[in-house]
Amino acid sequence: MSPSPQKHRSLASRFSFFTGLLLVWVVTVVLLWDHTHTFSFFAGIVLIAFTLSIAFLISRFTMRVLTRPLALLREGITSVQQGVFKPIQISETNDEIQDLGNSFNRMIEELQRTNREIQQHRDLLEDRIRQRTEELENAMSTALAASQAKSDFLANMSHELRTPMNGLLGMLDVTLESQLDDEQRENLETAHRSAYSLLALLNDILDLSKIEAGRMMVEQIPFQLRPVLEDCVKSFQARAQQKKIALHFTIDSAAPAAVIGDPLRLRQIVTNLVSNAIKFTEHGFVAVLIRATPPETVPLPNSENRPALAQVSIQVRDTGAGIDNEKLDSIFDKFTQADGSITRKYGGTGLGLAITKRLTELQGGHVAVESTLGVGSTFTVTLPYPVIEEPAPSQAQVPEIPESEWSRPARILVVEDNVVNQKVVLAVLRKRKFHIDVANDGREALSHMEASEPFDLILMDVQMPILDGLETTRIIRKDPRWSSLPILAMTA
Ligand code: ADP
Repeated sequence: MSPSPQKHRSLASRFSFFTGLLLVWVVTVVLLWDHTHTFSFFAGIVLIAFTLSIAFLISRFTMRVLTRPLALLREGITSVQQGVFKPIQISETNDEIQDLGNSFNRMIEELQRTNREIQQHRDLLEDRIRQRTEELENAMSTALAASQAKSDFLANMSHELRTPMNGLLGMLDVTLESQLDDEQRENLETAHRSAYSLLALLNDILDLSKIEAGRMMVEQIPFQLRPVLEDCVKSFQARAQQKKIALHFTIDSAAPAAVIGDPLRLRQIVTNLVSNAIKFTEHGFVAVLIRATPPETVPLPNSENRPALAQVSIQVRDTGAGIDNEKLDSIFDKFTQADGSITRKYGGTGLGLAITKRLTELQGGHVAVESTLGVGSTFTVTLPYPVIEEPAPSQAQVPEIPESEWSRPARILVVEDNVVNQKVVLAVLRKRKFHIDVANDGREALSHMEASEPFDLILMDVQMPILDGLETTRIIRKDPRWSSLPILAMTA
Protein backbone atom coordinates (compact mmCIF):
# COMPACT_ATOMS: atom_id res chain seq x y z
CA MET A 1 0.00 0.00 0.00
CA SER A 2 1.29 3.45 -0.83
CA PRO A 3 1.38 5.85 2.10
CA SER A 4 -1.50 8.32 2.11
CA PRO A 5 -0.35 11.78 1.04
CA GLN A 6 0.67 13.83 4.04
CA LYS A 7 -1.58 16.78 4.79
CA HIS A 8 0.32 20.04 4.74
CA ARG A 9 -0.51 23.64 5.05
CA SER A 10 0.47 26.04 2.28
CA LEU A 11 3.56 28.16 2.66
CA ALA A 12 1.45 31.32 2.22
CA SER A 13 -0.77 30.46 5.18
CA ARG A 14 2.32 29.67 7.29
CA PHE A 15 3.86 33.00 6.38
CA SER A 16 0.56 34.82 7.05
CA PHE A 17 0.14 32.99 10.34
CA PHE A 18 3.70 33.81 11.37
CA THR A 19 3.32 37.51 10.38
CA GLY A 20 -0.04 37.71 12.22
CA LEU A 21 1.60 36.20 15.30
CA LEU A 22 4.44 38.74 15.02
CA LEU A 23 2.04 41.66 14.80
CA VAL A 24 -0.11 40.33 17.69
CA TRP A 25 3.12 40.21 19.66
CA VAL A 26 3.91 43.83 18.61
CA VAL A 27 0.38 44.98 19.63
CA THR A 28 0.65 43.11 22.96
CA VAL A 29 4.06 44.68 23.65
CA VAL A 30 2.69 48.15 22.75
CA LEU A 31 -0.31 47.65 25.11
CA LEU A 32 1.89 46.39 27.94
CA TRP A 33 4.28 49.26 27.41
CA ASP A 34 1.41 51.73 27.61
CA HIS A 35 1.83 52.77 31.33
CA THR A 36 0.25 56.09 30.67
CA HIS A 37 -2.90 54.44 29.20
CA THR A 38 -2.87 56.73 26.20
CA PHE A 39 -3.55 53.81 23.76
CA SER A 40 -7.06 54.39 22.50
CA PHE A 41 -9.61 51.84 21.32
CA PHE A 42 -9.49 53.42 17.87
CA ALA A 43 -5.71 53.05 17.68
CA GLY A 44 -6.25 49.36 18.58
CA ILE A 45 -8.70 48.86 15.67
CA VAL A 46 -6.30 50.58 13.25
CA LEU A 47 -3.42 48.45 14.48
CA ILE A 48 -5.43 45.21 14.02
CA ALA A 49 -6.58 46.27 10.53
CA PHE A 50 -2.98 47.13 9.69
CA THR A 51 -1.84 43.77 11.04
CA LEU A 52 -4.40 41.90 8.89
CA SER A 53 -3.46 43.88 5.77
CA ILE A 54 0.23 43.11 6.28
CA ALA A 55 -0.64 39.40 6.76
CA PHE A 56 -2.73 39.48 3.56
CA LEU A 57 0.05 41.13 1.57
CA ILE A 58 2.63 38.62 2.81
CA SER A 59 0.26 35.81 1.85
CA ARG A 60 -0.17 37.22 -1.67
CA PHE A 61 3.52 37.69 -2.05
CA THR A 62 4.43 34.17 -0.98
CA MET A 63 1.65 32.82 -3.20
CA ARG A 64 3.13 34.49 -6.23
CA VAL A 65 6.77 33.93 -5.49
CA LEU A 66 6.74 30.50 -3.85
CA THR A 67 3.49 28.56 -3.76
CA ARG A 68 2.44 28.75 -7.42
CA PRO A 69 5.82 27.87 -8.96
CA LEU A 70 6.19 25.05 -6.45
CA ALA A 71 2.68 23.77 -7.22
CA LEU A 72 3.50 23.83 -10.95
CA LEU A 73 6.71 21.94 -10.23
CA ARG A 74 4.80 19.37 -8.22
CA GLU A 75 2.30 18.92 -11.08
CA GLY A 76 5.22 18.48 -13.49
CA ILE A 77 6.80 15.83 -11.27
CA THR A 78 3.47 13.99 -10.98
CA SER A 79 3.15 14.01 -14.79
CA VAL A 80 6.66 12.59 -15.12
CA GLN A 81 5.70 9.84 -12.64
CA GLN A 82 2.77 9.04 -14.91
CA GLY A 83 5.06 8.90 -17.93
CA VAL A 84 4.03 12.27 -19.43
CA PHE A 85 7.02 14.48 -20.12
CA LYS A 86 5.82 18.04 -20.61
CA PRO A 87 7.55 21.30 -19.58
CA ILE A 88 5.98 23.39 -16.82
CA GLN A 89 5.04 27.06 -16.96
CA ILE A 90 7.70 29.22 -15.31
CA SER A 91 6.99 32.39 -13.36
CA GLU A 92 9.43 35.18 -14.18
CA THR A 93 10.67 35.69 -10.62
CA ASN A 94 14.35 35.92 -11.48
CA ASP A 95 15.40 33.95 -8.47
CA GLU A 96 16.24 30.40 -7.38
CA ILE A 97 12.62 29.33 -7.89
CA GLN A 98 12.76 30.33 -11.57
CA ASP A 99 16.14 28.54 -11.84
CA LEU A 100 14.56 25.44 -10.38
CA GLY A 101 11.72 25.60 -12.93
CA ASN A 102 14.22 26.07 -15.80
CA SER A 103 16.28 23.10 -14.60
CA PHE A 104 13.15 21.01 -14.39
CA ASN A 105 12.20 21.92 -17.97
CA ARG A 106 15.72 21.08 -19.20
CA MET A 107 15.45 17.74 -17.46
CA ILE A 108 12.10 17.18 -19.18
CA GLU A 109 13.66 17.98 -22.59
CA GLU A 110 16.49 15.56 -21.86
CA LEU A 111 14.00 12.89 -20.80
CA GLN A 112 11.95 13.47 -23.95
CA ARG A 113 15.04 13.08 -26.10
CA THR A 114 16.12 9.89 -24.28
CA ASN A 115 12.60 8.57 -24.54
CA ARG A 116 12.56 9.19 -28.30
CA GLU A 117 15.90 7.40 -28.66
CA ILE A 118 14.65 4.44 -26.60
CA GLN A 119 11.53 4.29 -28.76
CA GLN A 120 13.65 4.38 -31.95
CA HIS A 121 15.84 1.58 -30.57
CA ARG A 122 12.81 -0.44 -29.62
CA ASP A 123 11.28 0.02 -33.09
CA LEU A 124 14.58 -0.96 -34.65
CA LEU A 125 14.85 -4.04 -32.43
CA GLU A 126 11.27 -5.05 -33.13
CA ASP A 127 11.93 -4.64 -36.86
CA ARG A 128 15.04 -6.77 -36.63
CA ILE A 129 13.25 -9.44 -34.59
CA ARG A 130 10.38 -9.49 -37.09
CA GLN A 131 12.85 -9.71 -39.97
CA ARG A 132 14.85 -12.51 -38.30
CA THR A 133 11.66 -14.41 -37.40
CA GLU A 134 10.55 -14.16 -41.03
CA GLU A 135 13.98 -15.32 -42.22
CA LEU A 136 13.90 -18.24 -39.78
CA GLU A 137 10.36 -19.17 -40.79
CA ASN A 138 11.39 -19.05 -44.45
CA ALA A 139 14.49 -21.12 -43.77
CA MET A 140 12.45 -23.63 -41.81
CA SER A 141 9.76 -23.99 -44.44
CA THR A 142 12.47 -24.31 -47.12
CA ALA A 143 14.14 -27.04 -45.05
CA LEU A 144 10.82 -28.79 -44.48
CA ALA A 145 9.94 -28.51 -48.16
CA ALA A 146 13.38 -29.89 -49.07
CA SER A 147 12.94 -32.80 -46.68
CA GLN A 148 9.43 -33.44 -47.99
CA ALA A 149 10.70 -33.19 -51.56
CA LYS A 150 13.41 -35.73 -50.75
CA SER A 151 10.88 -38.13 -49.24
CA ASP A 152 8.45 -37.54 -52.12
CA PHE A 153 11.23 -38.05 -54.63
CA LEU A 154 12.29 -41.34 -53.07
CA ALA A 155 8.69 -42.50 -52.72
CA ASN A 156 8.10 -41.64 -56.39
CA MET A 157 11.36 -43.26 -57.41
CA SER A 158 10.24 -46.47 -55.76
CA HIS A 159 8.72 -47.76 -58.99
CA GLU A 160 11.57 -46.49 -61.16
CA LEU A 161 14.17 -48.18 -58.95
CA ARG A 162 12.37 -51.46 -58.47
CA THR A 163 11.65 -51.94 -62.17
CA PRO A 164 15.29 -52.28 -63.31
CA MET A 165 16.09 -54.30 -60.16
CA ASN A 166 13.30 -56.65 -61.12
CA GLY A 167 14.73 -56.88 -64.63
CA LEU A 168 18.17 -57.65 -63.25
CA LEU A 169 16.96 -60.33 -60.83
CA GLY A 170 14.57 -61.86 -63.34
CA MET A 171 17.25 -62.13 -66.02
CA LEU A 172 19.73 -63.59 -63.54
CA ASP A 173 17.10 -66.15 -62.47
CA VAL A 174 16.41 -67.12 -66.05
CA THR A 175 20.11 -67.31 -66.98
CA LEU A 176 20.89 -69.37 -63.87
CA GLU A 177 18.43 -71.98 -65.09
CA SER A 178 20.21 -72.33 -68.44
CA GLN A 179 23.30 -74.44 -69.32
CA LEU A 180 26.32 -72.89 -67.61
CA ASP A 181 29.80 -74.05 -66.74
CA ASP A 182 30.83 -74.05 -63.06
CA GLU A 183 32.67 -70.76 -63.12
CA GLN A 184 29.88 -68.97 -64.94
CA ARG A 185 27.34 -70.38 -62.44
CA GLU A 186 29.41 -69.28 -59.45
CA ASN A 187 29.86 -65.79 -60.86
CA LEU A 188 26.18 -65.47 -61.65
CA GLU A 189 25.21 -66.73 -58.19
CA THR A 190 27.43 -64.07 -56.63
CA ALA A 191 25.76 -61.45 -58.83
CA HIS A 192 22.37 -62.87 -57.83
CA ARG A 193 23.15 -62.63 -54.09
CA SER A 194 24.46 -59.08 -54.50
CA ALA A 195 21.38 -58.07 -56.46
CA TYR A 196 19.15 -59.48 -53.69
CA SER A 197 21.08 -57.57 -50.99
CA LEU A 198 20.75 -54.43 -53.06
CA LEU A 199 17.03 -55.05 -53.49
CA ALA A 200 16.60 -55.53 -49.71
CA LEU A 201 18.44 -52.28 -49.04
CA LEU A 202 16.44 -50.49 -51.72
CA ASN A 203 13.20 -51.80 -50.25
CA ASP A 204 14.16 -50.58 -46.77
CA ILE A 205 15.11 -47.10 -47.99
CA LEU A 206 11.99 -46.81 -50.11
CA ASP A 207 9.71 -48.04 -47.33
CA LEU A 208 11.17 -45.58 -44.86
CA SER A 209 10.79 -42.71 -47.34
CA LYS A 210 7.24 -43.74 -48.02
CA ILE A 211 6.45 -43.74 -44.30
CA GLU A 212 8.17 -40.38 -43.82
CA ALA A 213 6.32 -38.87 -46.79
CA GLY A 214 3.06 -40.07 -45.18
CA ARG A 215 2.39 -42.31 -48.18
CA MET A 216 2.53 -45.72 -46.55
CA MET A 217 -0.94 -47.23 -46.76
CA VAL A 218 -2.10 -49.68 -44.11
CA GLU A 219 -4.79 -52.07 -45.31
CA GLN A 220 -7.81 -53.14 -43.29
CA ILE A 221 -8.71 -56.60 -44.57
CA PRO A 222 -9.80 -59.80 -42.81
CA PHE A 223 -7.04 -62.35 -42.38
CA GLN A 224 -6.17 -65.38 -40.32
CA LEU A 225 -3.51 -64.62 -37.76
CA ARG A 226 -1.92 -68.03 -37.31
CA PRO A 227 -1.10 -68.95 -40.93
CA VAL A 228 0.35 -65.50 -41.66
CA LEU A 229 2.65 -65.60 -38.62
CA GLU A 230 3.52 -69.27 -38.88
CA ASP A 231 4.45 -69.01 -42.59
CA CYS A 232 6.56 -66.01 -41.88
CA VAL A 233 8.52 -67.71 -39.07
CA LYS A 234 8.83 -70.96 -41.05
CA SER A 235 10.52 -69.12 -43.91
CA PHE A 236 13.50 -68.64 -41.54
CA GLN A 237 13.80 -72.33 -40.67
CA ALA A 238 16.55 -72.98 -43.22
CA ARG A 239 18.62 -70.04 -42.05
CA ALA A 240 18.24 -71.09 -38.40
CA GLN A 241 19.29 -74.64 -39.26
CA GLN A 242 22.32 -73.35 -41.12
CA LYS A 243 23.39 -71.51 -37.93
CA LYS A 244 22.49 -74.54 -35.79
CA ILE A 245 20.05 -72.64 -33.61
CA ALA A 246 16.52 -73.73 -32.70
CA LEU A 247 13.57 -71.73 -33.99
CA HIS A 248 10.33 -72.07 -31.97
CA PHE A 249 6.88 -70.79 -32.79
CA THR A 250 4.10 -70.80 -30.18
CA ILE A 251 0.67 -69.23 -30.46
CA ASP A 252 -1.51 -68.89 -27.38
CA SER A 253 -4.88 -70.65 -27.73
CA ALA A 254 -6.56 -67.40 -26.58
CA ALA A 255 -5.23 -65.54 -29.65
CA PRO A 256 -8.03 -64.66 -32.08
CA ALA A 257 -8.28 -66.81 -35.19
CA ALA A 258 -9.25 -64.01 -37.55
CA VAL A 259 -8.77 -60.27 -37.33
CA ILE A 260 -8.98 -57.18 -39.51
CA GLY A 261 -5.70 -55.53 -40.38
CA ASP A 262 -2.78 -55.54 -42.77
CA PRO A 263 -1.20 -59.02 -43.05
CA LEU A 264 1.58 -57.74 -45.31
CA ARG A 265 2.77 -55.14 -42.80
CA LEU A 266 2.48 -57.65 -39.96
CA ARG A 267 4.67 -60.03 -41.94
CA GLN A 268 7.19 -57.26 -42.56
CA ILE A 269 7.41 -56.49 -38.83
CA VAL A 270 7.84 -60.13 -37.80
CA THR A 271 10.33 -60.72 -40.63
CA ASN A 272 12.49 -57.83 -39.41
CA LEU A 273 12.49 -59.04 -35.80
CA VAL A 274 13.09 -62.73 -36.54
CA SER A 275 15.74 -61.92 -39.13
CA ASN A 276 17.63 -59.77 -36.57
CA ALA A 277 17.21 -62.41 -33.84
CA ILE A 278 18.75 -65.10 -36.06
CA LYS A 279 21.41 -62.74 -37.37
CA PHE A 280 22.66 -61.77 -33.90
CA THR A 281 22.40 -65.25 -32.29
CA GLU A 282 25.24 -67.79 -32.47
CA HIS A 283 24.04 -70.43 -29.97
CA GLY A 284 20.77 -71.39 -28.33
CA PHE A 285 17.40 -70.49 -29.75
CA VAL A 286 15.05 -67.92 -31.21
CA ALA A 287 11.47 -68.17 -29.93
CA VAL A 288 8.42 -66.43 -31.32
CA LEU A 289 5.48 -66.31 -28.93
CA ILE A 290 2.07 -64.92 -29.89
CA ARG A 291 -0.34 -63.91 -27.15
CA ALA A 292 -3.48 -61.79 -27.01
CA THR A 293 -5.65 -60.07 -24.44
CA PRO A 294 -9.30 -61.19 -24.43
CA PRO A 295 -11.13 -59.00 -26.96
CA GLU A 296 -12.80 -55.96 -25.47
CA THR A 297 -15.96 -54.54 -26.99
CA VAL A 298 -16.16 -50.78 -27.11
CA PRO A 299 -19.80 -49.62 -27.13
CA LEU A 300 -20.59 -46.85 -29.60
CA PRO A 301 -22.89 -43.93 -28.65
CA ASN A 302 -25.67 -45.21 -30.92
CA SER A 303 -25.79 -48.45 -28.87
CA GLU A 304 -24.13 -50.46 -31.64
CA ASN A 305 -20.97 -52.33 -30.74
CA ARG A 306 -17.71 -51.77 -32.49
CA PRO A 307 -15.94 -55.08 -33.32
CA ALA A 308 -14.10 -56.28 -30.22
CA LEU A 309 -10.44 -55.20 -30.06
CA ALA A 310 -7.75 -57.65 -29.04
CA GLN A 311 -4.22 -56.57 -28.19
CA VAL A 312 -2.08 -59.10 -30.03
CA SER A 313 1.49 -59.26 -28.75
CA ILE A 314 4.28 -60.80 -30.79
CA GLN A 315 7.34 -61.58 -28.72
CA VAL A 316 10.62 -62.48 -30.40
CA ARG A 317 13.19 -63.77 -27.89
CA ASP A 318 16.75 -64.79 -28.65
CA THR A 319 19.85 -65.96 -26.79
CA GLY A 320 22.14 -63.80 -28.91
CA ALA A 321 24.62 -60.97 -28.50
CA GLY A 322 22.26 -58.71 -26.56
CA ILE A 323 22.28 -54.90 -26.66
CA ASP A 324 24.02 -52.44 -24.34
CA ASN A 325 21.50 -50.72 -22.03
CA GLU A 326 22.62 -47.28 -23.16
CA LYS A 327 21.91 -48.13 -26.80
CA LEU A 328 18.46 -49.59 -26.23
CA ASP A 329 16.58 -46.35 -26.92
CA SER A 330 18.52 -45.39 -30.02
CA ILE A 331 18.37 -48.67 -31.94
CA PHE A 332 14.94 -47.68 -33.25
CA ASP A 333 16.42 -44.54 -34.85
CA LYS A 334 17.18 -44.87 -38.53
CA PHE A 335 20.77 -45.73 -39.51
CA THR A 336 21.59 -46.57 -35.87
CA GLN A 337 23.41 -49.74 -34.97
CA ALA A 338 24.19 -50.72 -31.41
CA ASP A 339 27.68 -52.04 -31.89
CA GLY A 340 30.06 -51.15 -34.71
CA SER A 341 32.18 -54.32 -34.48
CA ILE A 342 29.17 -56.66 -34.32
CA THR A 343 27.57 -54.84 -37.20
CA ARG A 344 30.69 -55.07 -39.32
CA LYS A 345 30.56 -58.80 -38.71
CA TYR A 346 26.86 -59.17 -39.53
CA GLY A 347 26.29 -56.32 -41.99
CA GLY A 348 23.01 -54.44 -42.14
CA THR A 349 21.97 -50.85 -42.54
CA GLY A 350 20.28 -49.87 -39.28
CA LEU A 351 16.94 -49.38 -41.02
CA GLY A 352 15.06 -52.55 -40.05
CA LEU A 353 14.06 -51.52 -36.52
CA ALA A 354 13.25 -47.94 -37.58
CA ILE A 355 10.83 -49.35 -40.15
CA THR A 356 9.46 -51.87 -37.63
CA LYS A 357 8.72 -49.14 -35.10
CA ARG A 358 7.10 -46.81 -37.62
CA LEU A 359 5.01 -49.59 -39.17
CA THR A 360 3.86 -50.69 -35.71
CA GLU A 361 2.88 -47.17 -34.74
CA LEU A 362 1.13 -46.64 -38.09
CA GLN A 363 -1.14 -49.54 -37.08
CA GLY A 364 -1.79 -48.08 -33.62
CA GLY A 365 0.62 -50.39 -31.79
CA HIS A 366 3.90 -50.09 -29.93
CA VAL A 367 7.19 -51.89 -29.73
CA ALA A 368 9.36 -52.57 -26.66
CA VAL A 369 12.73 -54.20 -26.10
CA GLU A 370 14.52 -55.80 -23.15
CA SER A 371 18.07 -56.99 -23.50
CA THR A 372 21.13 -58.09 -21.53
CA LEU A 373 24.56 -58.05 -23.15
CA GLY A 374 25.77 -61.56 -23.79
CA VAL A 375 22.48 -63.12 -22.64
CA GLY A 376 19.92 -62.19 -25.28
CA SER A 377 17.14 -59.84 -26.31
CA THR A 378 13.37 -59.83 -26.32
CA PHE A 379 11.47 -57.60 -28.71
CA THR A 380 7.71 -57.28 -28.15
CA VAL A 381 5.35 -55.72 -30.66
CA THR A 382 1.77 -55.14 -29.52
CA LEU A 383 -0.91 -54.41 -32.12
CA PRO A 384 -4.62 -53.74 -31.62
CA TYR A 385 -6.73 -55.80 -34.02
CA PRO A 386 -10.52 -55.84 -34.36
CA VAL A 387 -11.48 -59.49 -33.95
CA ILE A 388 -13.96 -61.11 -36.33
CA GLU A 389 -15.98 -64.20 -35.51
CA GLU A 390 -15.95 -65.86 -38.92
CA PRO A 391 -12.61 -67.19 -40.00
CA ALA A 392 -11.44 -64.97 -42.84
CA PRO A 393 -11.71 -66.47 -46.29
CA SER A 394 -8.34 -67.99 -47.12
CA GLN A 395 -6.37 -66.61 -50.06
CA ALA A 396 -8.16 -67.09 -53.37
CA GLN A 397 -7.47 -70.67 -54.32
CA VAL A 398 -7.14 -71.30 -58.03
CA PRO A 399 -7.49 -75.05 -58.58
CA GLU A 400 -4.40 -76.30 -60.32
CA ILE A 401 -4.96 -78.42 -63.42
CA PRO A 402 -1.96 -80.62 -64.29
CA GLU A 403 -0.34 -79.59 -67.59
CA SER A 404 -0.93 -83.12 -68.97
CA GLU A 405 -4.68 -82.52 -68.79
CA TRP A 406 -4.60 -79.26 -70.73
CA SER A 407 -6.45 -79.55 -74.02
CA ARG A 408 -4.42 -76.62 -75.38
CA PRO A 409 -1.67 -74.36 -74.02
CA ALA A 410 -3.14 -71.74 -71.67
CA ARG A 411 -3.52 -68.33 -73.30
CA ILE A 412 -2.03 -65.55 -71.22
CA LEU A 413 -2.14 -61.84 -71.93
CA VAL A 414 0.76 -59.92 -70.41
CA VAL A 415 -0.03 -56.22 -70.05
CA GLU A 416 3.22 -54.42 -69.27
CA ASP A 417 4.73 -51.19 -70.57
CA ASN A 418 8.32 -51.81 -69.50
CA VAL A 419 10.37 -53.72 -72.08
CA VAL A 420 12.73 -55.26 -69.50
CA ASN A 421 9.81 -56.51 -67.42
CA GLN A 422 8.19 -57.91 -70.56
CA LYS A 423 11.39 -59.85 -71.26
CA VAL A 424 11.54 -61.24 -67.71
CA VAL A 425 7.91 -62.34 -67.70
CA LEU A 426 8.22 -63.85 -71.16
CA ALA A 427 11.39 -65.72 -70.22
CA VAL A 428 9.66 -67.25 -67.19
CA LEU A 429 6.38 -68.06 -68.95
CA ARG A 430 7.89 -69.45 -72.12
CA LYS A 431 9.45 -72.28 -70.16
CA ARG A 432 5.91 -73.52 -69.39
CA LYS A 433 4.96 -73.38 -73.11
CA PHE A 434 2.06 -71.00 -72.58
CA HIS A 435 0.59 -69.07 -75.46
CA ILE A 436 1.52 -65.48 -74.64
CA ASP A 437 0.35 -62.17 -76.04
CA VAL A 438 1.89 -58.90 -74.93
CA ALA A 439 0.13 -55.51 -74.72
CA ASN A 440 2.03 -52.33 -73.91
CA ASP A 441 -0.80 -50.61 -72.05
CA GLY A 442 -4.45 -51.00 -71.05
CA ARG A 443 -5.92 -49.79 -74.32
CA GLU A 444 -3.80 -52.22 -76.33
CA ALA A 445 -4.86 -54.98 -73.93
CA LEU A 446 -8.56 -54.25 -74.60
CA SER A 447 -8.08 -54.35 -78.37
CA HIS A 448 -6.11 -57.63 -78.09
CA MET A 449 -8.99 -59.10 -76.08
CA GLU A 450 -11.54 -57.98 -78.68
CA ALA A 451 -9.51 -59.26 -81.62
CA SER A 452 -8.23 -62.66 -80.55
CA GLU A 453 -9.45 -65.87 -78.96
CA PRO A 454 -10.42 -65.62 -75.30
CA PHE A 455 -7.56 -65.52 -72.81
CA ASP A 456 -7.35 -67.76 -69.72
CA LEU A 457 -5.41 -65.30 -67.59
CA ILE A 458 -4.25 -61.71 -67.66
CA LEU A 459 -1.06 -60.55 -65.96
CA MET A 460 -1.63 -56.84 -65.47
CA ASP A 461 0.96 -54.22 -64.56
CA VAL A 462 -0.49 -51.48 -62.36
CA GLN A 463 1.27 -48.25 -63.40
CA MET A 464 1.08 -47.78 -67.16
CA PRO A 465 0.70 -44.86 -69.58
CA ILE A 466 -2.55 -44.18 -71.49
CA LEU A 467 -4.71 -46.61 -69.47
CA ASP A 468 -3.37 -47.99 -66.19
CA GLY A 469 -3.92 -51.47 -64.78
CA LEU A 470 -6.66 -50.54 -62.29
CA GLU A 471 -8.77 -48.67 -64.85
CA THR A 472 -8.31 -51.43 -67.45
CA THR A 473 -9.41 -54.05 -64.91
CA ARG A 474 -12.54 -52.01 -64.10
CA ILE A 475 -13.45 -51.86 -67.81
CA ILE A 476 -12.84 -55.60 -68.24
CA ARG A 477 -14.93 -56.47 -65.16
CA LYS A 478 -17.90 -54.46 -66.44
CA ASP A 479 -18.01 -56.56 -69.63
CA PRO A 480 -20.11 -59.76 -69.10
CA ARG A 481 -17.81 -61.71 -71.46
CA TRP A 482 -14.84 -61.19 -69.13
CA SER A 483 -16.46 -60.74 -65.74
CA SER A 484 -14.89 -63.90 -64.32
CA LEU A 485 -11.60 -63.84 -66.23
CA PRO A 486 -8.71 -64.16 -63.72
CA ILE A 487 -6.57 -61.00 -63.64
CA LEU A 488 -3.36 -61.00 -61.61
CA ALA A 489 -1.84 -57.66 -60.68
CA MET A 490 1.85 -57.63 -61.44
CA THR A 491 4.33 -54.99 -60.40
CA ALA A 492 8.08 -54.71 -60.10
P1 ADP B 1 20.50 -53.70 -38.95
O1 ADP B 1 20.14 -55.03 -38.39
O2 ADP B 1 20.34 -53.61 -40.43
O3 ADP B 1 21.81 -53.18 -38.46
P2 ADP B 1 18.23 -52.80 -37.40
O4 ADP B 1 17.54 -51.48 -37.39
O5 ADP B 1 17.44 -54.00 -37.70
O6 ADP B 1 19.44 -52.64 -38.41
O7 ADP B 1 18.93 -52.99 -36.00
C1 ADP B 1 19.65 -51.92 -35.42
C2 ADP B 1 20.69 -52.43 -34.46
O8 ADP B 1 20.05 -52.98 -33.30
C3 ADP B 1 21.53 -53.57 -35.00
O9 ADP B 1 22.62 -53.09 -35.76
C4 ADP B 1 21.99 -54.27 -33.74
O10 ADP B 1 23.10 -53.58 -33.21
C5 ADP B 1 20.81 -54.07 -32.80
N1 ADP B 1 19.92 -55.26 -32.75
C6 ADP B 1 18.72 -55.41 -33.35
N2 ADP B 1 18.17 -56.60 -33.06
C7 ADP B 1 19.04 -57.24 -32.26
C8 ADP B 1 19.05 -58.52 -31.61
N3 ADP B 1 18.04 -59.38 -31.73
N4 ADP B 1 20.13 -58.81 -30.84
C9 ADP B 1 21.16 -57.96 -30.72
N5 ADP B 1 21.21 -56.75 -31.30
C10 ADP B 1 20.18 -56.38 -32.06
